[in-house]
Amino acid sequence: MEKHARIFVPGGDTLIGAALRRRLAFQRFTGLVGTPPGEPDLCSAPEVDDFFRRARPEYVFLAAGKSGGIRANQLFPADLMLDNLLSECHVIDAAHRHGVKKLLYIASSCSYPKHCPQPMRVESLMTGPLEPTNDAYATAKIAGITLCQAYARQHGANFISGIPANAFGLEDDFSPEGGHVIPALLAKIHKAKVESLPSVPIWGTGAPRREFIFADDLADACLFVMQEYDDAATPINLGAGEDLSIRETAELIREVVGYTGELAFDSTKPDGMPLKSLDSSPLIRMGWRAQTSFAKALLLTYEAFQNELRKSTQEGIHVRAAV
Ligand code: GDP
Repeated sequence: MEKHARIFVPGGDTLIGAALRRRLAFQRFTGLVGTPPGEPDLCSAPEVDDFFRRARPEYVFLAAGKSGGIRANQLFPADLMLDNLLSECHVIDAAHRHGVKKLLYIASSCSYPKHCPQPMRVESLMTGPLEPTNDAYATAKIAGITLCQAYARQHGANFISGIPANAFGLEDDFSPEGGHVIPALLAKIHKAKVESLPSVPIWGTGAPRREFIFADDLADACLFVMQEYDDAATPINLGAGEDLSIRETAELIREVVGYTGELAFDSTKPDGMPLKSLDSSPLIRMGWRAQTSFAKALLLTYEAFQNELRKSTQEGIHVRAAV
């Protein structure tokens, strides 16, 4: 990928999209096109087609599609599924028709079956039922992977797919309803500290395990595979290699925030998948390593949350997590 190549990041203002744009700028890629607010409406086929005709992107990092934590998946499965299906269909088809050289579709570890041998290998995709709390979103993500494989098979398109671990980071959704576990807990535990609450509710038993990846490290992995990986028939896992229980995660977040109260696990709330850990050995064998320790990434994310809170307070807006 040449430094002046025309690069499009659909979903440029999502957690992963924003990190990708930051990483591309850091590595001195100068030809970004369609950056927010100039991104077309990805749910509109004519708008996407018109954009590709005018901007002629050569490389596409497809980070688009609404996503959310376990609660958002339970409340809005249709919204999440439809937004992902429409945006991936429109972008992948336009990328083919307008001669994009290479596309990376960023899928999700929810695509793996609920009871998948761990760590999860790409051979396990489509071998069992999905986790019911996110089956609609996961089906849309599997469709995206399969669509890339189909364009590769039928048209010889160089459209590859990456399956990331649970990403978190600076542009996260810190709302208790929408957010994934790390941003939601940073916000909840911060609120408990500020209000001197004796305890903070944590959903589920605390036993499920998750592999997390800092969004900026994930963006770095995406740039790496865009340049080094060409097997469109086989998705590649994008993980940093370690998993933690939700209890361990919540305890680390309590330390970062400096909260001394109790973590009250509420087992009436869903646990979701018991374990999600990726086998990222193909990526590691190719020479990629994450640069940011989990502790540092949590700290940077907490700082980003506090900045967002300060900004919202100055503007007279209450951040949902703080009210
Ligand atoms: P998942 O990885 O797709 O299951 O999505 P999440 O990141 O939303 O949730 C991961 C795990 O964290 C689940 O076991 C949740 O029950 C648990 N969890 C505990 N507290 C929270 C919370 O406040 N918000 C979210 N989203 N998850 C929580």
